[in-house]
Amino acid sequence: MKSMAGSWVMVVALGSLACERNPERDATISDSASACSMPTRRATILDQDGVILETWSLRLEEVDHDRLLPDVPAFLEYRAALERDGAVVVRPVADPPVIRNEAEADMWRDEDFNNKLVFTGAVGSIDPITCLDALLFSRQASRFSQVERPTEFLASVLRRDTGTGTDLFVVFGAGSEMFPPREAYGLDVVDSVLAEGWSYWYAIHNHTVQRNGDLLALGVPGPSTSDVGLSRALAEERGLQFAKVTNGFYSFTASAEELGAFRAR
Ligand SMILES: [Zn+2]
Repeated sequence: MKSMAGSWVMVVALGSLACERNPERDATISDSASACSMPTRRATILDQDGVILETWSLRLEEVDHDRLLPDVPAFLEYRAALERDGAVVVRPVADPPVIRNEAEADMWRDEDFNNKLVFTGAVGSIDPITCLDALLFSRQASRFSQVERPTEFLASVLRRDTGTGTDLFVVFGAGSEMFPPREAYGLDVVDSVLAEGWSYWYAIHNHTVQRNGDLLALGVPGPSTSDVGLSRALAEERGLQFAKVTNGFYSFTASAEELGAFRAR
């Protein structure tokens, strides 16, 4: 643990140097808020056939910024592409789904029901993406362009309050196809960390780009009916506190209790 703490101190020190070279910087921004960057303490658990599972260890204050987002090229390119297409709106404008039979019609009726709860603000909230969630998005975007090859990641964020602040432990998994395979969920890792006394703060995954005719559209910042099912199971079995869904610009957040209002499958 000592070497871990040492590397964190180094990050803060670098941040202070950057501040001193920029006297015009807003003096109210603390040193630790001078950058939104990938944590240095990362470990790979699995890296095989396009599937990765890794853990990040960091302090909450490293990523607890209001406005700062990562300076990661793949993330910036993704955002620029969506901005070029006029797609950056809280409620995405996308082509309607193709419905081929009664079962699909039923499913989309339930998805519409959930989306209404999301976009009327009846359940949870939609906010600009945070630094940490943008770093998670950037991790997968750096592997695969999220315009050319949309792929979902899944991350579990655990927290533990200490005498000197809050530690975060992230379990991040993703594959090379649209949906992460089961081995990228990392739930056995989550279980071992929970057993050490951490709490399961939130689980987050991304909803990939949609189409709006010839243009790109953002993914829905809200849970699908199957997301609701998974999140409820994580809440019941592992004490998940919040479920989040991001599209790289906006993130939806709902508490485990609020998930009860949604339809699930
Ligand atoms: Zn989803």
